[in-house]
Amino acid sequence: MIVWIIIIGGLISISLATYLKFQAAKKTELSPAEEATSGQKSSSSTVLEAVSDGVVILDNKGVIKMINPAACALSGWQQKDAIGIDHRSVFKLSNEKGKPYEDSDNPLSRTLADGKTHRDSNAILTENGSNKSIVLSMSVSPLFDSEQEINGAIGILRDISQEKQAEKQRAEFISTASHEMRTPVASIEGYLALAMNPKVSSIDDKARSYLVKAHAATQHLGSLFQDLLTSAKVEDGRLTNHPSVVEMSSFLTSLTEDLKFVVKKNIAVEFVVGNNGALIKPQEDTGSIRVVQPIYNIYADPERIREVVTNLFDNAVKYTESGKITIGLTGDNDIVQLYIKDTGKGIPSNDIPHLFQKFYRVDSSDTRTESGTGLGLFITRKIIEMYRGRIWVESKVGQGSTFYINIPRLNNQQAAELSGNSTTKTVKPTT
Ligand code: ADP
Repeated sequence: MIVWIIIIGGLISISLATYLKFQAAKKTELSPAEEATSGQKSSSSTVLEAVSDGVVILDNKGVIKMINPAACALSGWQQKDAIGIDHRSVFKLSNEKGKPYEDSDNPLSRTLADGKTHRDSNAILTENGSNKSIVLSMSVSPLFDSEQEINGAIGILRDISQEKQAEKQRAEFISTASHEMRTPVASIEGYLALAMNPKVSSIDDKARSYLVKAHAATQHLGSLFQDLLTSAKVEDGRLTNHPSVVEMSSFLTSLTEDLKFVVKKNIAVEFVVGNNGALIKPQEDTGSIRVVQPIYNIYADPERIREVVTNLFDNAVKYTESGKITIGLTGDNDIVQLYIKDTGKGIPSNDIPHLFQKFYRVDSSDTRTESGTGLGLFITRKIIEMYRGRIWVESKVGQGSTFYINIPRLNNQQAAELSGNSTTKTVKPTT
C-alpha cells in the first residue's frame, strides 16, 4: 500500500512539474501576430542588407539613422561612421556642371522640407576619399509619425552611370545622323520647290502633281530630322537653355495673337487668365474700368516655353475640326498653371498613359493621315521637366482634350533677385 502511495505521489509530482514547465514555456512563446512582426523585422533587415540599391533613412533633421551596405558602397562611407552624420556630409551631390547641390536641389532635403516625394536622376555623387563620381538616381519619400507629422525620410539610391553613358552614345548617334541627313533633305526640298515654280521651270500637270507629293514628303522628313535632333539634345542636356524671369500673362497674350494667324480652320482661339478671365476692378477716382491681371512669373527660357505652347497649340489645331481652342493661365502661390484646351476628337483613355513617350501616336485613321512624328509631346515633357514642372492631359473621346502644365511660380522677391531688379510690379494693368 505504502509503495503504491509513493508511486502515485511520484507520478503526480512529475505531471505537475511537466505541466508547470509547459505553462512557463507557453508564456514565452510569441503570438502569431508577434511572430509575424518579428519575422518581418528580421527579414526586412536581411533584405536591406542584401539589396543592390542603396537605402538610407534620415530623421527629421537630416541625420542618417540607417544606411545599408549598398548605400555605403555608393558613398564610400563605412556604416558605423555614416550613422549619426548629416546626409549632406555623406552624400556629396552636384549637378552635371559640377555645381554643388543646394538644399533646394537635393531631393533628401526637399522631402524633409515639404513632406513630398522627390525624384532625381541626374545627381552626380562624389565618393568619399576619392575623386570618383557616379550618376545617381534618387527617389525619396517622407516618413510620418502617428500624428502624421513628418519625422524623417527614406531614400532609394541607384548608380545609373552605365545607363546614362549608353543613353548619351545613342543620343549622340541620333543627333549626328539627323544633323547630317537634314542638309541633303533641305537641298532636295529646295530643288523640288524650284521645279514646281512656273517662273523657273516648265512641267506638265501630271509631273507637277508628283512633285507636290514629293515636296510634302520631303518636308515631313525634314521635320522628322529636326524633331530627332531636338529630342536627342533634350535627352543629353544639350538643348540651349537661357532662363530668365518670364511674366506669363503678357507672354501668352502676345503668343496667342501670333498663333491665331496660323489657324486655317474654322476654329475660334481665346486666351483666358484666372478662373473666369481677367479680374475687372472699377477705379473710384476716374470712374473708368481697369483690367488687372495677376502676375505669374516663372524662371525659364522664353524660347523653350514658346516651343512648348506652340507644339500643344499645333496639336490642338491638327486634331480639331471645328470649335474652340482656349489657352488658359491660372495658378496659386506656388505654381503657375497653363493649359491648352480644345474641342477636338479627344484621346482614348488607353492611350493617355503612353502619350508622352517617344514616337507614340494614337493609332487611328486621323493620325495615319495627319503628318506627325510622335516626338512632339516627348520633347514638350522633357522641356517642362527641365523647369521642374509637370505636364498631363485630361481628355474625352469626341469632346476634346486639355493639356495642363504646372511650373513653379516665383514670388515677387525671387523674381526681383533673378532679374537683378530691386523693385517689381505687383499688378500689370492693361486697358
Ligand atoms: P504627333 O507628331 O503625332 O502630333 P505628338 O507627340 O505631338 O506627335 O502627339 C502624339 C499623339 O498624341 C498624336 O499622334 C495624337 O494621336 C495625340 N494627340 C496629341 N495632341 C492631341 C490633341 N490635342 N487631340 C487629340 N489627340 C492628340
